Amino acid sequence: MRSKIVAGNWKMNKNLAETDSLLTELSAKLPDTDAEVMVAPTFVNLTRALQTLESSKIEVIAQNMHYAESGAFTGEISADMLLNIGIDTVIIGHSERRAYFGESDAILSKKVITALKNGMRVMFCFGEELDDRKSGNHFNVVESQLKNVLFNLEPSAWTNIILAYEPVWAIGTGETASPEQAQEMHAFIRKTISEAFDSTIATNVSILYGGSVKPSNAEEIFSKPDVDGGLIGGASLVADDFIAIVKAI
Ligand code: PEP
Repeated sequence: MRSKIVAGNWKMNKNLAETDSLLTELSAKLPDTDAEVMVAPTFVNLTRALQTLESSKIEVIAQNMHYAESGAFTGEISADMLLNIGIDTVIIGHSERRAYFGESDAILSKKVITALKNGMRVMFCFGEELDDRKSGNHFNVVESQLKNVLFNLEPSAWTNIILAYEPVWAIGTGETASPEQAQEMHAFIRKTISEAFDSTIATNVSILYGGSVKPSNAEEIFSKPDVDGGLIGGASLVADDFIAIVKAI
């Protein structure tokens, strides 16, 4: 049975004092929910976030990691470093990493393999650009992103994978995929996984939608049968908005 998940990607926002304050508010306002609730603060505040949320159900996750186990990679963070402080879920493949840091499918594949090998859970992000959607190529693009990074994995690896479909044209733009567009793509993703692996894996994997989810549209998007929650950017930085989105699941 797949989990419902709401995850907040804070990106390069919130200093230490702001992190403390937002997490304290979130944990005080968190409703009773069966959904998994996660936040991804910046690397430098992960340890503090874990301490602040010690008695909270909110999970702290990382926004990124390197594919090497260790070594001469100035400025990078390894899976072992994350695990060692108590982080066991990592976002890989966010469109900003792909666009601004040149992370290709080949690099993302290495990251996913390293994370899984170290026993981490991966939240893998993917999604088409506006031109792909306009030219009707969005299904092909999504299929190839999945194929290039995930379809060479062992079937057993899928218990540690969460998918986040994030159409690039909807991220941080205020433009949201309609609930029908989200459902159509999520159903396509499940069908593609079912064909590449099997229907059990396809049924059990959680597929989140990301792209300008806010309190006003969350409930309708989450009501779709193949949408298992959301990866939230901007709205995760405001406690009342994030909590409203958690309540919508
Ligand atoms: C994101 O960055 O993953 C995201 C979905 O951002 P936003 O909610 O701001 O569109």
